[in-house]
Amino acid sequence: MTPTASRLETLPRAELEQLQLERLQALLVRLKRNVRRYREKLAGQRVESLADLARLPLTTPEDMAESFPYGMFAFPLREVIRLHTCVGPDGRPLIIGHTRNDLAQWSRLAARQLAACGVTANDVVQICLGSGSALGASGYLLGAELIEASVIAEDPNHVDYQLEMLRNYRPTVLVTTPSHAHDLTRLLDERRMDPQAFHLRTVLLSRPVDRPTRDAISARLLTPVRCSFGLGEVLDPGLCVECDHGHFHVQEDHFLVESVDGELVLTTLMREAMPLLRYRTRVACELQRDKCPCGRTGIILKPGTRLDRRLHVNEIPLYESQIAGVLAQTRVAGQPFETQARERSLIIRVQMTSELFSDTIWVIEKLRNDIQSEFLSRLGVEADIRFVEPRSWPASGQRPPP
Ligand SMILES: [Zn+2]
Repeated sequence: MTPTASRLETLPRAELEQLQLERLQALLVRLKRNVRRYREKLAGQRVESLADLARLPLTTPEDMAESFPYGMFAFPLREVIRLHTCVGPDGRPLIIGHTRNDLAQWSRLAARQLAACGVTANDVVQICLGSGSALGASGYLLGAELIEASVIAEDPNHVDYQLEMLRNYRPTVLVTTPSHAHDLTRLLDERRMDPQAFHLRTVLLSRPVDRPTRDAISARLLTPVRCSFGLGEVLDPGLCVECDHGHFHVQEDHFLVESVDGELVLTTLMREAMPLLRYRTRVACELQRDKCPCGRTGIILKPGTRLDRRLHVNEIPLYESQIAGVLAQTRVAGQPFETQARERSLIIRVQMTSELFSDTIWVIEKLRNDIQSEFLSRLGVEADIRFVEPRSWPASGQRPPP
């Protein structure tokens, strides 16, 4: 079945921009009235056209972290009915809130994304995003319920059970993380299982992956793979998903999108509890206004790399400052290191000094185990610690320039 786009996704450009302008003007009124941080910054600012957006102040992830926990909220806490946390700059926590109306809007946006992937009321949808993505799971659940698909209300905690669920529940749509999809394909190989025993017809990944990874998942599960792109602190899912033609169309009736010096900057037009004005996402991007055969008129976003040295390991976002912070608690404190994120583990190469060096293997092993335990308990990630010869790296515990 060809996924159909809703009326709001296919608005003629002029009509869409008029709607955006009205929503932006209403947003500014709400921000000035209800959020102290914006009240000061927006004093005397008026918006007569969308071009005026570029004159408005930017919001940074640091602004959000400094306003922790509720300083960015535009609604009183008693009207906020759902709270969740996400990772902010340098691993600092952020709290995101939703009013009842926010959840209703979110379910519509998530439903549009699922519909763009061809999900209908006839589908059995399994949402398997793991404990680190509870936010994403609740968004997809809202969307799938609105579509009236059958949702499997169980998140398998290990991949063997996942294979059993694919056989028993016969989901036709699997919403999952790239890490989990990777584990699934690996286990299929190990068990020599035939994916034709499953009933999957779409896999939706919670974040974009490179072409070889996508092709490998698609080939092994014998199903097309789509990717979604979003940000937990803004909305994820709900920002954009790939259409049939591989384009990430931003849901522009809800988000204004800009590229400021190549960085994706987002304004939430409809969020009540926690609206954001010109939020610097720290993600590189390209924006295209090309016409797409799918009929959606939303701008096409090409998400790029993170601009803030944030890594993802096992779907956990990690900043280099956090990694340095854990190493600082160990005997290799201050030693130069470099990191490499793998799907399930973090490789850390640490320079070995003559003071740390021992020709007794168990001493080195103990040091390695101690560091690994620190990473597991403090950041929840498996660290693969490798000691390397001193090189001409910077003097204090920072990664050398790439
Ligand atoms: Zn399209």
